[in-house]
Amino acid sequence: LSFSPMSCRYESTAAASDSTGATVEKYEYQAEVSRLMDLIVNSLYSNKEVFLRELISNASDALDKLRFLSVTNQDLIKEAVDLDIRIQTDKDNGIITITDTGIGMTRQELVDCLGTIAQSGTAKFLKALKDSKDAGADSNLIGQFGVGFYSAFLVSDKVAVATKSPKSDKQYVWEGEANASTYTIREETDPEKMLPRGTSITLYLKRDDKGFAHPERVQKLVKNYSQFVSFPIYTWQEKG
Ligand code: ADP
Ligand code: MG
Repeated sequence: LSFSPMSCRYESTAAASDSTGATVEKYEYQAEVSRLMDLIVNSLYSNKEVFLRELISNASDALDKLRFLSVTNQDLIKEAVDLDIRIQTDKDNGIITITDTGIGMTRQELVDCLGTIAQSGTAKFLKALKDSKDAGADSNLIGQFGVGFYSAFLVSDKVAVATKSPKSDKQYVWEGEANASTYTIREETDPEKMLPRGTSITLYLKRDDKGFAHPERVQKLVKNYSQFVSFPIYTWQEKG
């Protein structure tokens, strides 16, 4: 398998143990990411709903990548699961989960992709921010450039990313919180939480944003975006 090389700039600060005995590794965000997270968390950006578009677009990219690579490597799709996107809402607890059966991420890819800034759009955003002296422009810039994965923190106190790459036997969980300069990665050991393949992103919504977990609201947003996505998107809700 060949994937494009990525710059890997990270620091593992400490290894701790969680209650189940599995190793939880703590990482420092790249400085630019910390800055970006600060801005996102503290911005008065009003068009917060873009988070869903960004996460659906990442899910779709991951499915595209899997489909493309599986043309030359059938092993990648040996798990008999469809290529699709599932969005689960739990309105009582204010939780949204977006699951895809795409290419997933290895532990190293989690660090490379969700701890540093690789994407050009976000890099441009930071550049524009640097150039703009007017602090009030911050929130407009978020909309103008898009902030990708980190837009999850527009609406979330905490984000968990469970992911399984066909390149690894193991599943990993990345966890980050708004207003934190570090994130953690641990191996998933609970057999009930194993994904056949792909990525499942759980958003623990901020108190004022729990309304996004209402199924009608999600369905309406999905309807707007799904026309640009070539994989089925299913939505369902937790029984109340
Ligand atoms: P971009 O999509 O522009 O690259 P993002 O911030 O949206 O930037 O995502 C950063 C990276 O994280 C992606 O390029 C991809 O490598 C990885 N990623 C994000 N979501 C997923 C996902 N659902 N499945 C696999 N990889 C993902
Ligand atoms: Mg993206």
